[in-house]
Amino acid sequence: MNIILIGAQGSGKGTQAAMLAQSLGIRHIASGDLFRQAIDAQNDLGMQAKTYIERGDLVPDNITVRMILDRIEQPDCAAGVLFDGFPRTIAQAEALDSELVHIGRQIDVTVYLSVPREVLLKRLSGRYICRANQHVYNINTRPPKVAGICDLDGSELYQRSDDRGEAVQKRLDIFFNETLRLTDYYAAQHKLEEINGNQGIEQVHEALVRQIREHRDTTA
Ligand code: ADP
Repeated sequence: MNIILIGAQGSGKGTQAAMLAQSLGIRHIASGDLFRQAIDAQNDLGMQAKTYIERGDLVPDNITVRMILDRIEQPDCAAGVLFDGFPRTIAQAEALDSELVHIGRQIDVTVYLSVPREVLLKRLSGRYICRANQHVYNINTRPPKVAGICDLDGSELYQRSDDRGEAVQKRLDIFFNETLRLTDYYAAQHKLEEINGNQGIEQVHEALVRQIREHRDTTA
């Protein structure tokens, strides 16, 4: 099964994607995590992506598409992929569709996790992630047990540079002006579901599992 989760910055998309991939036994592929790993490794991909990411801009489609298509052809993606953060433009969605056809696969369902912009801004200002595995915390709503330290792996927590200042507004503008158009693209293929993301983590998770199951049953 191949699923796309669409959600703004701070919508809880990454947290939900990790939980959902585990429940469904498919691989969670987060484009932002792949970029941050490349930046930490200081490889070519990281060098190319860094300036765009720090400004809060999208990385150009050709770089992003190549990175994702290479990743999903790895053997650990054979049982299915949960796409988190990709596609973000119509061109990326079209490139993904044609590649999937090529390898005899397809997107089964796309879920939009909807959260109002004021709530997103509040959540992002408190967001911290861990160095080792990108586990996400929020100093206001979901603090770690020991300040500054990840509960799960003991690594240091830090605030992403693009979660501060103007980059936050820019990323939200890009989401609402550009990425959200993907909902029309997938609705036209009868593959779109929407979930209210402005609820607790467990409630959102249950709603996601339920909606995906219903979608699968009605299209089977
Ligand atoms: P967020 O969605 O919170 O901005 P991510 O961790 O998903 O954070 O992505 C971080 C940055 O990586 C984005 O701001 C963008 O610069 C880049 N990026 C991630 N996914 C894509 C994509 N599909 N297309 C272009 N750029 C991307």
